[in-house]
Amino acid sequence: MQVNYHTHTWRCNHAEPDERAYIESAIAHGVKVLGFSDHTPYPFPDGHTSWFRMSVEEAPRYFALIRQLREEYKDRIEIHVGVEAEYYPAVFPALLELLREQQCEYMLLGQHYLFNEEESIYSATATDDPALLIRYVDQTIEGMATGLFTYLAHPDLIHFTGDESLYRLHMRRLCRAARELDMPLEMNLLGFHDKRHYPDRRFWELAGEEGNRAVLGYDAHSPAAFTWRELEDQGRRLLADVGLTPEEHLPLRSIMG
Ligand SMILES: [Zn+2]
Ligand SMILES: [Zn+2]
Repeated sequence: MQVNYHTHTWRCNHAEPDERAYIESAIAHGVKVLGFSDHTPYPFPDGHTSWFRMSVEEAPRYFALIRQLREEYKDRIEIHVGVEAEYYPAVFPALLELLREQQCEYMLLGQHYLFNEEESIYSATATDDPALLIRYVDQTIEGMATGLFTYLAHPDLIHFTGDESLYRLHMRRLCRAARELDMPLEMNLLGFHDKRHYPDRRFWELAGEEGNRAVLGYDAHSPAAFTWRELEDQGRRLLADVGLTPEEHLPLRSIMG
């Protein structure tokens, strides 16, 4: 695929080095626009740290390096620098301040934890608790409603194993809100690769019924992600099955509001 806005780096502690290897692999496999969106630094007020994201101290080096590479590679590929961020209501204003200071170009919404993360409720843990499903949907909608995110990564991250009709009721709510807010939903190819519970066909059937905008994202945690031709086809087939076509040239949304 020609545009991929969902790319990590080693700075989040669970992806392979190094930035140049990602860029070279992307170029070799036909990517024309490459967005780095590593797990955002999050300025938690009380010393809470999360293992899967870069530290606040690391942020200036991340943004500076990707900008330097953007210059270095500008004749071969278009590079952008952004982050994948959760919407944590209590800390979001401080996050925006940090990212604007760093001249971050864009944010993807990836709601990995509920509430403000410190409660340690991971969205992808299997649960049959309707309260957590509802919380995921409400919080994700609130995040999308800020109007600051370019798209919603792995919208089907919540792993709800309870009542099917409840799943459909609330996830349809998410799809409707995304449509009203003009927010594209990402078919996440890493989920296929790692055989996770997402992309979830149940969810994409709802998105098809609601006529959502859709994009494909590698969610690259290694340079090899750009070789995933079969998974890309799998994603396109699932979208086609539910009547959706992925957008190929999605514009970035500024985080300046
Ligand atoms: Zn994610
Ligand atoms: Zn990601």
